[in-house]
This record gives sequence, structure tokens and C-alpha cells, in this order.
Amino acid sequence: MSSDCGHLPGMETEAANPGPAKEARAPKPRVKPIDRSQTMFRVIDVEQLIEPDHPARAIWEFVGRLDLTRFYKKIQAVEGVPGRQAWDPRLLISIWVYAYSRGISSGRELSRRCEYEPAFQWLAALGCINYHTLCDFRSTYDAELPELFTQVLGVLSSEGLVNLERVMHDGTKIKASASKSSFARRERLKEHLKAAREQVEALKDWKAEETAGQKAARQRAVRERQTRVEQALKELDTLQEKHEDSEVRVSHTDPQARVMKQPNGGFAPSYNVQLSTEAAHQVIVGAGVTQNGNDWSSLVPAMAEVEKNCGAKPKQVVVDAGFTTRKNVMELSAQGVEMIGSLRDLNAGGQLERRGIAPEFHPKAFEYNAQEDSYRCPMGTVLKRISTRKKRSAQEHIYRADCRACEVCPFQRSCCGQEGEEPRSVYRTQEPKEMEDFIKRMRQDEAKEIYRQRAGVAEFTNAWIKEKLGVRQFRLRGLVKAGLEVIWACLTYNIQTYIRLIAQQQTLQRTANP
Ligand code: SF4
Repeated sequence: MSSDCGHLPGMETEAANPGPAKEARAPKPRVKPIDRSQTMFRVIDVEQLIEPDHPARAIWEFVGRLDLTRFYKKIQAVEGVPGRQAWDPRLLISIWVYAYSRGISSGRELSRRCEYEPAFQWLAALGCINYHTLCDFRSTYDAELPELFTQVLGVLSSEGLVNLERVMHDGTKIKASASKSSFARRERLKEHLKAAREQVEALKDWKAEETAGQKAARQRAVRERQTRVEQALKELDTLQEKHEDSEVRVSHTDPQARVMKQPNGGFAPSYNVQLSTEAAHQVIVGAGVTQNGNDWSSLVPAMAEVEKNCGAKPKQVVVDAGFTTRKNVMELSAQGVEMIGSLRDLNAGGQLERRGIAPEFHPKAFEYNAQEDSYRCPMGTVLKRISTRKKRSAQEHIYRADCRACEVCPFQRSCCGQEGEEPRSVYRTQEPKEMEDFIKRMRQDEAKEIYRQRAGVAEFTNAWIKEKLGVRQFRLRGLVKAGLEVIWACLTYNIQTYIRLIAQQQTLQRTANP
């Protein structure tokens, strides 16, 4: 058989086209084997886990400067007595501060990070801290933590970072650890209480598959639920006394939370967090949590808090329209605190437009005659004073035109609005001296310029706490514990400010002059 036998025309022989055969013979690529069945020991130099200028080191050093005697006093494990050693409060404070600086506020998450994240491993020296220990430490020291916050302010003050010439104050709503559906009326709360008591009774049965630890956890959860519902019923009684006309509802998850309006216009169970920030270095000098949906009632207590923390009241406080009330202006003025706020001219607002009064007949178009104590309208009609009434701390004088003049006036509809049957009235508010001073001050350019800086300081702090430190929703329940969470966040913020302004400056100086 010739060599051509068996090949169709156009088909090439192997010798003629050696490509595919060559590829088949090409050596296989060599890769590292993955062997997961092996066991190995690694040498870890704990000091080398993080860089020399890592923030965790700076936090550890800073916390080391504080007097933690009150925290150590609460430790039950003592020398010479058998038992497990306690974790060092300096370590737990440093770990929580570093955790908040990374936006971590969950105890379980923090405990997990201690197992693998270098900065937490360095802080805990490779120790594994149980999440119960971490969570209990965060929520137990309700007397010691505010004192620690004051100490931190003392350190910042000694470095010249606390200046009380001007303080910017603002409030922000932070969601509570409760859902809207947890709010219930009295009857429903009683049903919850009955169910919780039945569950407590049922706990006496030991489930065969359950360990002692699981049983203890189940008992704790059920008892906590019963306590919360009992607290909710007490809270409901207190609230009902204040709101006799309506049937109030309280959350059985967090009885002290209140439904508040959110910045997005919606409503959610929340607490109102009030922060005072000094303007020069943006250090938080006062922090508090309230159950009030409004802001204005928190300003005077907030200034008292600043005085408690720093030993003096601020000279000037800058706030937005939510805090600008006559009561606040007068009370702060009596305490020697100058207030910069928002001027709201109610007569010039939408009220007049809603009543159908045209802009050319707003009160500023009426000319006041102080000698005769009367107004003159754009048509020349005189409005005489008919009465005076008390409006909070101010007096409101009411002036009215002659009804015969208004009846025949061609502009009656534009001037008197929808209630056109009545002759036109104009109101003149006689403010107390403190309020007049405030209005005069706020008409000056200097005060307007200071007011413009408010958002950059006060709202910045609020946004930092929520967005960077991760406190968008409280993890702890109740007014006191929510307050503790805010203090942890403010401690973290102030220590971060210190590190940014002082520690980095010192590092730069050391680098420049070794
Ligand atoms: S309605 Fe009466 S007050 Fe108003 S412009 Fe006419 S006359 Fe004057």
C-alpha cells in the first residue's frame, strides 16, 4: 500500500503538520501543592504584629495615662485568693475605644476580631476575650465611665485643646434597639407579661437534649423578657399620667425608647443624643441622651453638663432654630452664656400666605408710629391698639383698623385674606430685654458669620459618631445604657482628636529632630 493510501485529498499527514503532537508533549506547568492536611507551628512576634505608629499603640498609651483606680476597685479577683484572673481594665478600655474607632460596636464581632486581626491581637497579646466579658464591661460602669470622659477632657485641656470661648451644640436622633411593632397598649402588654410568666414556669422542665449552659442561657433570656415587660407597664403608667386624653403605647423591647421623627421624615423608636462641641479644636465637651423628641428643652441641661465636665460654662453657644426659644435665650443670658441662634420671623413666614395675605400687605408694609402707638396701613388707614396679651415671656399688642375703612378698601381681599369679613389686624411683640439683645445681635454680620460655621462643627461631630464610629442604632437598651454607648463613642472621638492633633505632631517632631 502506498503512503498515500487512507488519506483523503487535502488531508495532511502528521509529519506534514506536527503542531498538535508537539502540544501534547509539552511539559505540564508546576504549581505549589495545596496541602490542608498538615499541622504547623508558627512563631509570632506580638510586638511586630502592627507598625510602630499604629493607632492601637497610641490608644494604649493614652489610656495608660488615665487614672483607672475606680475600675480596678471593682475587680473581685485579688492576690492570694484562688480563682480566675480578671482582664485588665486598661486593656478592655483600649480594645473598646479601638473597636469604636473602626466602627465596630458588636461585642461578638469584637471577640472574633481578637482571634485574627493583628491590632486586636496586639492589644490583647493574643488572648481570646469572651464576648460576655466585653459586653458586660461596656455596660457595667455607669458611674465610672462619665468620670473617665471628664479625665480625657482634662488631658486634652492640659494640651490646650479645650477652649470654651465658643461651643456649638446640636442634637441627633439615634434609633433604639427596638422595632416599631414592639410598641403596644396596656392590654397587649399584659398578654406579653402573662406569656413571659408562663415561659418562666416552663423553665423548670429540663429538656433532655439541653446542656447546663444552654439551660442557663434560656433562663436568662426569659427572665430578661419578663423584666422588660414589667418595666414597660411601669413606663406606661408614667406616660399615661402625662397624656391623660390619649391611650399611650410603650415598647416591650426597650420601654424607655420613644417614637421620634427621623431626618428622612419617617418615624422610629429612638433616643435624642445631644452633643456639645468646642469650636476651636472640635473636641466634644458634653454628651447626653434624652427621651424628648424636641431639642429646645435640652439646651440648658447640656450647658450644665459642659460646666460639670470642664469646670466652667462656655462663653458663647451656637445652636440652630430647634433650640432658639425665648426661654433658652433668657435662661442662658441669666447664666452669662451668649447665645447665637436662628431668627425666625413668624409673621413673615408661610402663616400669612396660608391666610391668603398678599406679600405687599405683610406687617412690614405697615408703618409704626411709636408716639401715637399706632400703625398706618399702605392705604393710610390708622390701626389702633385694641388689646395686649401675654405670649410666654413676651407681650403681644394687637392693633386693628376701622372696619368701615376696610369694607370699602379696594385691597380688602389681599390685605385681610380669606377671613375678609374682619378688619385687618397687626401684631407687635414686645420682647424682654434679653430677647431684644439677642435679636439685635443676630442682625449683625459677625453673628451671622458665626452661625454659618455651626453646621461644619456641630453636625460634623454628629455625622462622625454615626457614620465613622458606627453608632447608627443603639445596641444597649434603656436610657442609662444608651447614654453609656454615647460616652464610649465620644471618648473614642476625643481620643482620636488627641492622636490626630498631638501624637502625630510629636511623631513628626521626633522624625525631624532624631
Ligand atoms: S384693608 Fe384696611 S388695613 Fe388693609 S389696606 Fe385696606 S384700609 Fe388698609
